[in-house]
Amino acid sequence: DIFPGDYSGNPMQRNTPKVLFATIEPAGFDSPKLIAFNESLSQEIGLGKYEAKDLNFLVGNNLPENIKTYATAYAGHQFGNWAGQLGDGRAILAGEITSRDGKKTEIQWKGAGATPYSRHADGRAVLRSSVREYLMSEAMYHLGVPTTRALSLAFTGEDVVRDIMYNGNPQLEKGAVVIRTAESFLRFGHFELLSAQGEYKTLQNLVDFTIDNYYPEIISDGIQKYKDFFENICTRTADLMTEWFRVGFVHGVMNTDNMSVLGLTIDYGPYSMMDEYDLNFTPNTTDLPGRRYAFGKQGQISQWNLWQLANALHPLIKDEKFLEDTLNHYGTYFWEAHDKMLCRKFGFDELRETDEEFFISWQGLMQELHLDYTLFFNQLEKLNLASDIKALFENISYSALDDEKTGKLEDFIKKYEERLSSNTISKEESLSLMKHSNPKFTLRNYLLYQCIEEINTGKNGMLEKLTHALENPYEELYPEFSAKRPDIYDDTAGCSTL
Ligand code: AMP
Ligand code: MG
Ligand code: MG
Repeated sequence: DIFPGDYSGNPMQRNTPKVLFATIEPAGFDSPKLIAFNESLSQEIGLGKYEAKDLNFLVGNNLPENIKTYATAYAGHQFGNWAGQLGDGRAILAGEITSRDGKKTEIQWKGAGATPYSRHADGRAVLRSSVREYLMSEAMYHLGVPTTRALSLAFTGEDVVRDIMYNGNPQLEKGAVVIRTAESFLRFGHFELLSAQGEYKTLQNLVDFTIDNYYPEIISDGIQKYKDFFENICTRTADLMTEWFRVGFVHGVMNTDNMSVLGLTIDYGPYSMMDEYDLNFTPNTTDLPGRRYAFGKQGQISQWNLWQLANALHPLIKDEKFLEDTLNHYGTYFWEAHDKMLCRKFGFDELRETDEEFFISWQGLMQELHLDYTLFFNQLEKLNLASDIKALFENISYSALDDEKTGKLEDFIKKYEERLSSNTISKEESLSLMKHSNPKFTLRNYLLYQCIEEINTGKNGMLEKLTHALENPYEELYPEFSAKRPDIYDDTAGCSTL
């Protein structure tokens, strides 16, 4: 009853005023084909083992009567501007499933057809973007980063037209559907929509619902409850950003409609893991030259997004000073969490005042020497055994290490070893911090690109190998994945938004 009504008009219409959802059924596909199924997630959420007859369910065909499918309306700020009403344009929800231990999980199809919120788009997804969502969300999960997850990946059997031109013709690509799961898919934008429409009673119902179901830690009442809610969202968001920085993840489209109110990574579009360390790196070619959503900006952008959420919640909280103070505190909290995270990556016992200067000099070194982010920390773990520092790092640089650069590297390593020697924890403990904070495997963009090319030729070998590697990111299972990106690939290969 958090929804004020139903909608059953023309499914191609965009506006559904006063309504946060619309019933809609998946389009249905005649000849689906399974590409991948996530058996362990299926068991975990209570769906059980995959059987061949389930393929129809995986693309949304012939659903049983008890599943009432719907899409939700939300709004959002896109690239800094109010975009008005948006919504699930190519996501259709099946509702929740309850596992044996009582855990509830929402299930949705992505790419299963148009909804009332599709605007002029087709509600379809192509193989490329579907593989990217399926693999990366699982990679993030196994890295330990809060995220939506992926249950299955299947061809629809339908070709989808995309406006990427080849020789002047629109390209046809294979259509695909991913089933993704989350405790909830609620976004900042859901709250923004109700607030913008002046639907304050429904907004309050939605906030109460969210707290009751997803924020059990909040036990206060009245306005304090809503204040605690906002503070908790801030904390979860800052913690998520810290995790993105830890593993080198760049989301690429941090619009408020892509911000989870539960602090999950959501909507895998033109994202990328960062190869070469660069605070200015963005995989989103539609975000040039502004680079609003570049790697290094994700902390401040999340704060900007929380400002928009604060505005949306203002009718319930009615305390500007509280909201401003909370947002200002956000910066302090985020940077402290961020720096503590870096301490663990370097194997430091605790955050010291002098560490900030060390981190700034490290950032300068990374940018100047064009070093690979993931591999840098992997090599640091081997410092003990190495006699030649240049040899340890030259293969992980995207440019040559001349004498001047080598000198800077050696100076930095000397400072690093001095800081390590002042640790109050043992060498083993320090190394263990590093091993748990620094992945050995990250799902690099070029690997995804190769994998998609291969699936397009009907082979799944790379998909299986990448799945195995991403399920064990803190181990080195395949030495060929522990190298920097080969020169023949640029850093955004295949990162389209479509
Ligand atoms: P995104 O940038 O992927 O988060 O998408 C922004 C908005 O466009 C969301 O409301 C999506 O649901 C919608 N959208 C993106 N692609 C499609 C599509 N192929 N069909 C319908 N809606 C879409
Ligand atoms: Mg989105
Ligand atoms: Mg999307």
